[in-house]
Amino acid sequence: MNRLDMLNRVLRRAQPWDMVIIGGGATGVGSAVDAASRGYEVLLLEQSDFGKGTSSRSTKLVHGGVRYLEQGNISLVMEALRERNILRQNAPHLVRDLAFVVPRYDWWEAPLYGVGLKVYDLLAGKHGIGRSQILTREETLARIPTVNREGLRGGVVYYDAQFDDARLLISLALTAADAGAVLLNYAPVTGLIKEADCSVAGVEAREIESGKDLRIRAKVVINATGPFCDNVRRLADPRVAPMIAPSQGVHLVLDRSFLPGDSAIIVPHTPDGRVMFAIPWNGHTLVGTTDTAIQEISLEPHPLPEEVDFILQTAGRYLHQVPARSDVLSVFVGIRPLVKSGRSASTAALSRDHTIRVDSSGLVSIAGGKWTTYRRMAEDCIDQAAARSRLPKRQVVTRQLSIHGFHQEPGRLGSLAAYGSDSVAVQEIVRDNPSMGEPLHPALPYCGAEVVWAVRAEMARTVEDVLARRTRALFLNARAASEMAARVAAIMAPELRQTNAWQLQQVNAFQQLARDYMMTGFPVKS
Ligand SMILES: Cc1cc2nc3c(=O)[nH]c(=O)nc-3n(C[C@H](O)[C@H](O)[C@H](O)COP(=O)(O)OP(=O)(O)OC[C@H]3O[C@@H](n4cnc5c(N)ncnc54)[C@H](O)[C@@H]3O)c2cc1C
Repeated sequence: MNRLDMLNRVLRRAQPWDMVIIGGGATGVGSAVDAASRGYEVLLLEQSDFGKGTSSRSTKLVHGGVRYLEQGNISLVMEALRERNILRQNAPHLVRDLAFVVPRYDWWEAPLYGVGLKVYDLLAGKHGIGRSQILTREETLARIPTVNREGLRGGVVYYDAQFDDARLLISLALTAADAGAVLLNYAPVTGLIKEADCSVAGVEAREIESGKDLRIRAKVVINATGPFCDNVRRLADPRVAPMIAPSQGVHLVLDRSFLPGDSAIIVPHTPDGRVMFAIPWNGHTLVGTTDTAIQEISLEPHPLPEEVDFILQTAGRYLHQVPARSDVLSVFVGIRPLVKSGRSASTAALSRDHTIRVDSSGLVSIAGGKWTTYRRMAEDCIDQAAARSRLPKRQVVTRQLSIHGFHQEPGRLGSLAAYGSDSVAVQEIVRDNPSMGEPLHPALPYCGAEVVWAVRAEMARTVEDVLARRTRALFLNARAASEMAARVAAIMAPELRQTNAWQLQQVNAFQQLARDYMMTGFPVKS
């Protein structure tokens, strides 16, 4: 993906696009893949970087969702289990199977979770990854050596899958581009073009790097802006009733020593009725999450001190070594674009099913759902959008569509596994310039060649794009990421033909952002 080429294709186009998609998260980029692979002419506009919103801030599970099973949402669980399988098939370089252990401390937990997880196995049917099983105390300790041993009776193990959300997103953007879609980051939609009858006929957008205003016509406009959905709907009709009930979720990243094995821990019932995970992820331990209803939507939401304390306390109950604030390497927050039910007061109880709404202006808005079901959401959305704009009906092909970089044996690619078949090109950069193979920081597995590749092929424009979403440095270890910033800026500058002043500005901006991901300066519990 080359941004200048993408921009030129937008500027050169005289006739309306079949579809313009607003929003470069899982929903928007997934829809761009679906539309382009069916042969529709599609443009996607993202206000910041691809994945800057919720889609880089998830728990990173490709799962049916045991919690939704408990809520009795069988159809959502079955759909998600089907989609889990499709993703495992189409993106083996980005998705891996993961065992989850529910530690048991009470006698009733074996029958309760044992039976519940058998139902989960049954729902997965032929898409199952492995059978759930009751574990003895010894078997539980063999899988989770760091689990709290006091009162431990045993556990129950079941299987789901895990992925790297931002890497999947970039690979989906590349898949869409391979299929002919045009995608532009740093291009916020600022208004909608309306016909005399108030129907939406396109978008007004700003190209941030040049400051150019764009007027882009489309047969149908799709609003896939996640938590920002109602803002875009109000551009069409300021009186429209909101459909989103936003809720934020916090994750903490700890050292791998807190969970050194290959299995995750799941606590199906925290004291306040939530699900809590501790997951091995990219050589670290990811713990979370919370579910706090919020009013303000922002691209950089902040954790509440009580959310951080809640996660640390709950993790401390199940881990032998109790984590403290000083152990937190990174804290990140995402906003769930949950769709209002009109009844439920708690966002944890709101449905994760997706909703597609076509307003009287013809604007198609899609929200809700989960990362796991992004493909199905996209299929439904493009079906609706094509029907609404009377585009010729075309068969969906994404069930069998390999995601860019498809590779059957990613384990052979070492730290470049997530690039899949692109890892060859990343290694070529090292062959041309061996210094690009050196680690950028001793605490993280990233090298200079990945920075060059991110700029040349993945449309990274800023130091943050590289450190937050092309690599996951910011999310894994905010201090290390901050220390990498100057080197990353120095590698990017010649690639982007940028100046020393640009480097300085980028390093300052990134280091300021990274402070929000560190625990330093975070308010102490009162
Ligand atoms: C804490 C948490 C944990 C989660 N864990 C999981 C999980 O483990 N598994 C799972 O399956 N799901 C999970 N989810 C759900 C999943 O992450 C979301 O459903 C999904 O990422 C939403 O994607 P989206 O594209 O709809 O929204 P977003 O990713 O937020 O994308 C919307 C995009 O629209 C852009 N935008 C907004 N306004 C404009 C504009 N005017 N012009 C241009 N662009 C605009 C934004 O910048 C943003 O990039 C989790 C969610 C949260 C919050």
